[in-house]
Amino acid sequence: MFWLTERFLSIQGEGRYAGVPSYFLRTGGCNLHCPGFGAEYEVDGEKRAGCDTWFAVDRAFADRWQAVESAEELLEEVDREFARLGYRPHVVITGGEPLIYATDPVFYGVIEGLVERQIVVTFETNGTVELDFENFPAYRHAVFALSVKLSNSGETAQRRMNAIALKKIAAESREYFLKFTLDRQMVESGRALEEIAGIRSILPEAEVFCMPVGESRATIWHNDRAVFDFCIRNNFRYSDRLHIRIFDMTQGV
Ligand code: SF4
Repeated sequence: MFWLTERFLSIQGEGRYAGVPSYFLRTGGCNLHCPGFGAEYEVDGEKRAGCDTWFAVDRAFADRWQAVESAEELLEEVDREFARLGYRPHVVITGGEPLIYATDPVFYGVIEGLVERQIVVTFETNGTVELDFENFPAYRHAVFALSVKLSNSGETAQRRMNAIALKKIAAESREYFLKFTLDRQMVESGRALEEIAGIRSILPEAEVFCMPVGESRATIWHNDRAVFDFCIRNNFRYSDRLHIRIFDMTQGV
């Protein structure tokens, strides 16, 4: 069994496949909290800080999540939706951290089913979970958008970095790239370049996408120019966050 917080058809807003029609499955729960990203929300009148997907991370919202207990049932529903649509979009498995369910039989059954259907599957992951590609070979067919967290996440290096997990994904998966969420201060202080260099020493071949921190248009506007200039200076790819630009703070788009 695994938790799903929402599923919806949209357009990938970030990274290498920005602009591609994609069907999102957002799982519930994460092995990190990332309080440094500064999104604020309330639980029973108490203010909390987290990332822009706090509603899929904080288990205080679990009563709104759906328990998926059958891979076949979920795949049948997806098949019906794609038949109505008339084409098969990419499927993006995001979270929270979807790979906390990597060995769950229902979760893996969904991935196997999607791979069998020759659908392009992308995991949006923080890259901290070590995958067992031998016993779970469907993961070899997936794209990994490695959103490795930097110090601006508010997490310790020990919690947010797992070199073995990253190297395994690089060695075994069909495709991977790095995606960083940066704020202006991180860029201007030089910390962004220093920390990204540290991660590239683990994954020297990885293409690097950088995008501005922000859970709303206003915060993206505050950070985008600095990230844009940073990418030009360092030959990184600039990634916008199309879904936030277009829909602002709305979920499920
Ligand atoms: S790893 Fe990602 S989903 Fe998890 S708390 Fe951090 S930013 Fe949010």
